[in-house]
Amino acid sequence: MALQDHASHVATTVALEEQGIPDLLMVYFSGVDAAEHQYWAYYQPDEFSQRPSAEDVAALGHVVPGYYRYIDAIVGDLLKRLPKDALVVVLSDHGQGPNPNYRPEVTISEYGKWVSGTHGEAPPGILLFSGPGVKPGRVGHTTVFDIAPTLLALLGIPPTQDMPGRVVTEAFVPEVRESLPTDRVARTFMPMEFAPPTPAAADPDLLEKLRSLGYIR
Ligand SMILES: [Zn+2]
Repeated sequence: MALQDHASHVATTVALEEQGIPDLLMVYFSGVDAAEHQYWAYYQPDEFSQRPSAEDVAALGHVVPGYYRYIDAIVGDLLKRLPKDALVVVLSDHGQGPNPNYRPEVTISEYGKWVSGTHGEAPPGILLFSGPGVKPGRVGHTTVFDIAPTLLALLGIPPTQDMPGRVVTEAFVPEVRESLPTDRVARTFMPMEFAPPTPAAADPDLLEKLRSLGYIR
C-alpha cells in the first residue's frame, strides 16, 4: 500500500515537473483505507471483544495515525508544487471504524471478519475545500456524486443533466458562486481519436499469452 502511494506521489511530481500545472489534477491514495482495514484493532484495541496482545498493540498501534502523517506529508509536498491560488479539494469516499465482526483467527477468505476496520457502521467520509474563493464554515449534506458536478462547474463546464449530484455552491464566496454555470447540459459524447497498438511492436510471448486466453486472434 505504501509502495503504491509512494509511486503515485512520485508519478505526480514527475508529471508536474515535465508537463507543468494542469487545469485539473486528481491523485488517489489507497493506502489509508488498507491501513485502517488491517490495523484498526491495534489502533483502538479497547473497541474489540477479542483484544489484541499488548505486544502487538505496542508494535502496530502507530500504523493508522502514522499512515495519516505519511499521507499528510505527501499532500504537503504536492501543495508546495502547486500555485498559491490553486483550489484544493481533499476527500474520502467513505469513513472507517472498528469492525464488530472482527475475528483475528479467521483467514483472508472471510474478509468481513478478517479485517478489523470496516466501512459498515463507520462515520461519513470527509470533504475539505481550501483556496481563494472558499467560504469558511461547513457545507450542507454532500455525497460522492456531488464531486464531479462541483469540479466541472468550477472549471466553467456545466454538469450534464443525468449527473445525480449537485454543485456544492455553499462552499464558495458569492463572487465565485455567481461565476459558476447554472444550467445543466444534455449528455454529449466527444469522438475520441483512438489508434490501436500495432501488433508488430508487441512482445511475441505476450501476444501468444493473449491468444491462448482468447483476447486476440
Ligand atoms: Zn476499504
